[in-house]
Amino acid sequence: MSSYNASRPLAQRVIGILGGMSNQATSEYYRMLNQRLNNRLGGWDNGEIIIVSVNFGNIEYFIRQNLWDDAQNYLLEKVERLERAGADVIACVSNTMHRVLEPIMAQRSTPFIHIADPTAAAIQRAGIRKVGLLGTLPVMQSQELRQRYRERYGIEILAPTEAEQRVVDRIIFDQLVRRELREDSKREYLRVVAALRAAGAQGVILGCTEIFLLIDQSDLPHFPVFDTTELHVDALVAFAISPSVP
Ligand code: GLU
Repeated sequence: MSSYNASRPLAQRVIGILGGMSNQATSEYYRMLNQRLNNRLGGWDNGEIIIVSVNFGNIEYFIRQNLWDDAQNYLLEKVERLERAGADVIACVSNTMHRVLEPIMAQRSTPFIHIADPTAAAIQRAGIRKVGLLGTLPVMQSQELRQRYRERYGIEILAPTEAEQRVVDRIIFDQLVRRELREDSKREYLRVVAALRAAGAQGVILGCTEIFLLIDQSDLPHFPVFDTTELHVDALVAFAISPSVP
């Protein structure tokens, strides 16, 4: 579709990105959003995007110290900035921080695209009911997330063993958020996925937005992979240019 003849400026929703968690994931969101919007719109069109990028040092500290209220206060102020700047929709690039974003956004009128929702929709489209989950420790251990998948979508989540969870989490924080992509870490991840599969998983969620840098569908040709980054970006693109744009 070419929107060259559309009335200008082109009507589209402004995408507000809560970024920095990590900066590697954020740069991928920015790149993918513009690329996909350009694929859809053609010509020179791309997204209208506001990014508020936080200090990941604070996020890592809040997670490690279990300071979820502090994390919530920190991110509330960033959400307010995005709203003041004119975001029509808000998305957070961290699966982990959805734990505090969800209650913040439940109180507000700005639309929020929860990263688990487009992921669950893709799992449903694939006709799958039991999926493995890779992510940070708080994501793999989250009861709220399990409940969301089960109650809203009828999907059962399988987490790796505790020892495997520690390995998956360590690789995220020590390597992936710095875009350090190592062959031995890739082997570890594929080993954890194989164990989830042996335990009955019919697919796997890459429930951390940097994991796709390390493993993707091409590493697991016969096992469905649900990449939260890609699915989240697709949902934002659809929202930004849906015909009901005011
Ligand atoms: N990007 C991550 C996620 O999707 C991990 C970094 C963080 O803990 O925020 O959960």
